[in-house]
Amino acid sequence: MKVPGGRSLGSFLTDEEKANKPPITRALLRRIGSYLMPYWKQVVIMMFALLLEAALSLLPSILTGRIVDEGLIGKNLRVLTILILLSVGVILMANLISLIENYINTWISQHIARDMRNQMYRHMQAMSHRFFATKRHGDLITRMTSDINGVQAVMTNTFVNVLSNTIILMIAMVVMYRMNWILATVAILIVPLFSIPTKRVGKSRWRLTRESQLCNDETNEILNETLSVSGQLLVKLFTNEGKEFQKYKQANERIVKLNIREGLTGKWFRVAMNSFASIGPMLIYMIGGLLMMKYNQKLTVGDVTVMVALLGKMYQPLNVLMNLQVDLIRTMALFTRIFEYLDLPIEVRNSPNAVVPTSISGTLIFENVFFHYTKDRTVLKNINFDLKSGRSIAVVGPSGAGKSSLIQLIPRLYDVVSGRILLDGVDLRQIDLSFLRKNIGMVTQDTYLFNGTIRENLLYANDSASESEIMDACRKANLHDFILSLPDAYNTQVGNRGIKLSGGEKQRLSIARVILKDPPILIFDEATSSLDSISENLIQCAMEPLMHRRTSIVIAHRLSTIMAADEILAIDNGSIVERGAHDELVRHDGIYKKLYKTQFRPPFKGT
Ligand code: ATP
Repeated sequence: MKVPGGRSLGSFLTDEEKANKPPITRALLRRIGSYLMPYWKQVVIMMFALLLEAALSLLPSILTGRIVDEGLIGKNLRVLTILILLSVGVILMANLISLIENYINTWISQHIARDMRNQMYRHMQAMSHRFFATKRHGDLITRMTSDINGVQAVMTNTFVNVLSNTIILMIAMVVMYRMNWILATVAILIVPLFSIPTKRVGKSRWRLTRESQLCNDETNEILNETLSVSGQLLVKLFTNEGKEFQKYKQANERIVKLNIREGLTGKWFRVAMNSFASIGPMLIYMIGGLLMMKYNQKLTVGDVTVMVALLGKMYQPLNVLMNLQVDLIRTMALFTRIFEYLDLPIEVRNSPNAVVPTSISGTLIFENVFFHYTKDRTVLKNINFDLKSGRSIAVVGPSGAGKSSLIQLIPRLYDVVSGRILLDGVDLRQIDLSFLRKNIGMVTQDTYLFNGTIRENLLYANDSASESEIMDACRKANLHDFILSLPDAYNTQVGNRGIKLSGGEKQRLSIARVILKDPPILIFDEATSSLDSISENLIQCAMEPLMHRRTSIVIAHRLSTIMAADEILAIDNGSIVERGAHDELVRHDGIYKKLYKTQFRPPFKGT
């Protein structure tokens, strides 16, 4: 492993990495500052506390001159005692103020982190279905957790460090110049030496920080994918444990290497700093001594001691301030990552003139609808059909024809690319988004249940539903008897994503959830082949009352469902190719007849 150090350090940065360094612009700083604005009162109090703390912390060093000259050399015990007591009092006071300042500081940074987390969560909720379908989940979690925590940690330290150390430096410098300008200048000349290692370390640290963030994203992603219910199942069934472990091990190994390198970069920097810090006082003693003995009779031992003490006080802030450049770059990188997500445009948004209809009958019209996920491939082409309120339509077609894409357009999980969809004569994009979604019930093949009890999952649809409404919905969904047969009945835990329930039970639970929601429009994506005939029959019986008097669109795979619908829509390759009733369509030698012969299974005949 290469240890960063010496002259080769700069060569660690490639041109691409240099280009990736976040530009610290005024706009970026203003944006970061905007998070402080709500807490300006606390910031003012903290700054006042900092000023006081800085002044008080320097006072004992300034008093050292009088302690040496008047107390020790002057052999005046009374003055010595008073000055010592005064110094101790000042130190205690400075520490007390530092405690208060620490509290305010933590309070501010915690509140800023809270605001950022809330803002990010809100923004993520507004992101489209496309975002979640394409973005890596681990990356999202890292940005929401460790990036914001990182920002918060640096805000706590960095912000205060900049302020307090600048104040300390300025006061120390003024006092030094007032005492002896030659010695003060010598002290200041040593300062530029600090910037040499800082610059190099800053660059190297920035690259390591970025690399370690990427590595963290990667490990989070592996954990997320392979330790989730379905991921773990896939790994087990394909016996890929070894391969996955190797992947995890390698990522883990990289993190270790990066962290060690980052740690060493800091260490090397500190060693250089400490060396400069030790040489400085020697120079002051030497030059101070020379001045005192040869040129300036008025300069006292106390004065030189104060100079050395103040110089000592300056190194710490300087050290911190120089390190700050490194921390600032790191913070900027974190902020840039967070802002990158916050700036992602909201694809499906509520129109500013959105209407909230007073009532809804549920007539749907598709007018010249085109849709694609990516520009290079049109998924739906010129879709035109209408569905009258309370009627049902069965959508059929071969796999990949565009059936799921079509139904996803209705609750605006995606927006049409061109054309429009009207609900009761109003373009969906003009209807208040939450009103629209409240009026649509969707049962998908991939039923999502939260890890909680059956009751909690049902209440997710309508948290004010009474016990009898819940039971009634479950009776209608053919689920009540099954639930009662469980030892904990409605309090049964369903496990992660509902793993403890069968596919059919999960789908019936999701039907019951929609019954509780009671929407006028129903979208149902029928399970293809994962269910046995008994489960299918149970679902079929559950669906009938659900579809009753609701505008329904069903992606149908079974003849019974198709026959129950008022009309059939056959889709192939993104276009509607046939439309009509079953008898009518089987007479044509088209896609429906082909599907009928090969795929649609007759309804379950058993008892
Ligand atoms: P199935 O019956 O197998 O579920 P489907 O008729 O419902 O198929 P869709 O899921 O609508 O078909 O898919 C239509 C086309 O769009 C397919 O070619 C598919 O690969 C593509 N597609 C689906 N979802 C996405 C997505 N999120 N991003 C890009 N392409 C997608």
